[in-house]
This record gives sequence, structure tokens and C-alpha cells, in this order.
Amino acid sequence: MDIKCPQCGGDVKVIEGETFLTCGYCSSAIYIDKSKVVFHYMLKATIDEAGAGASLRRWMAGSSTVKGLENEAKTTKTEFIYFPIWYFKIKQADKELIKIQPASPSPIPGIKSLDIPAGDFRFYGPADVGNPSIKEPSVLYNSALEWLKNEGVDATDVIQSSLVHVPLYVFHYNYGDSPYTAIIDGSSGKIMAAEFPSKQELPYLFVGIGAAIIFFLEGMLMEFPQVLVAYLITAFFVVIAAVYVAEKV
Ligand SMILES: [Zn+2]
Repeated sequence: MDIKCPQCGGDVKVIEGETFLTCGYCSSAIYIDKSKVVFHYMLKATIDEAGAGASLRRWMAGSSTVKGLENEAKTTKTEFIYFPIWYFKIKQADKELIKIQPASPSPIPGIKSLDIPAGDFRFYGPADVGNPSIKEPSVLYNSALEWLKNEGVDATDVIQSSLVHVPLYVFHYNYGDSPYTAIIDGSSGKIMAAEFPSKQELPYLFVGIGAAIIFFLEGMLMEFPQVLVAYLITAFFVVIAAVYVAEKV
């Protein structure tokens, strides 16, 4: 069987059962889905496991997670995988954009909004064959096209398609009695986590509601200019309460 190279149009001989395909004319690596011939890329991992761990600790110490998470989270397992994605270059109304669809059904939060610098691609090569970190695609190209349609992209808008393996670190950790998973993009260090021990919002809610009630009562019961003084005093204590909650929660 012969196929046409998506880059140069040259004939590429396909040997049954061969997973690594390359164009003899332009050296592009090629992947054949049931219905489509696409480019085959690896996204370079620019961050090692230690770097990914450091990135995770910084995120845990940040403002969106519960206080002290960076010290109390216990890592139970770390994995490194190359997750497969369908990478579409699209042209709509003279504008080029990139759309990503997962090529594996395992849910990776934020995978579609992954920011991939094109310069970090390299062709899938002979050395990648048999790498156990590389997850094989199990979502067909046509299924990904269907998902694109739901996002307002027509198949005719697609000007280039690739199968890309993106490096991800998967950290499993426990906090309290609950297990959590955080995924770190191995090319940018960005954290992709759907569920994590978040800041409790109830204490903030209490401060907010309490302040609203006091302001309301002051407005009802007092006259100008005393009410202004009362407002300032209340505002002062609201700020103190908010700072206190922010320190403790
Ligand atoms: Zn070629």
C-alpha cells in the first residue's frame, strides 16, 4: 500500500504492522489513522520530574489551594506519560488557530487549552518505538473531527492535522484521608488539576454577610454624618476579619 505524504505529496510505502513511518523525500514522520494520514510528532519534555515536583509545590503554596498543602500533601506515586492528542491547524475567516482534542479517553483536565509552542515539536522517530511512556491513541481521527464540529469548526476548515504525544507528569498525593491527582505539563510546568483541596469559602462568606448586615443596620439607625464614621469603623474591622481568615484558612 502506498500513501501520499501530507507534507510533500511524495509516495510513502506502508509496510503492514510497521508503527514508525517516515517520508523518504522530506523526512516527515507520518501516522496513519483508519481514515487519515497525519503528521506524527513528539512534544519535547523540557521539565524533568524534580522540576515538575517543584512546580507542583509552588502551586500548592499558592492562593487557590488550602493553606499548608505544600507541607501536608504526601506524594504516593508519580508517573510520566506521553499523552496522545489530535492537533489541528485551522483556518477560519483568514485567521489561523490551533484546536486540540484528546486522542485517548482518559480525562486530562485542561488538555484542550494546552499551550504548545510549535518550536518544541520534533518528529516521532525510530527511538520512540516501543517507549512504554507513549500512550497509543484510541480515539479515532473522525471522532475528534466530530467533537470539533460541536465547537463550531467544520472539517473543511482544517488545514493540517497531527498526532502529537505530549509529556505529562501525573502526581498522585494524599491530603488528609483523601487521594488527589495533579497533572503537570512537562513542556510548560503548568498545573492541570480538576479537583484539589481548595480554600474553604464559608469563613469568607460569613465575613461578607456579617459586614452586609452591620452596614445595613447602621444605615437604618443612624443619621449623616455619624453613619459615615460608623461605616469607616466597620470597614476597618471587616478588613481585619478578612486578613485574619486569609491567614488561617
Ligand atoms: Zn514528504
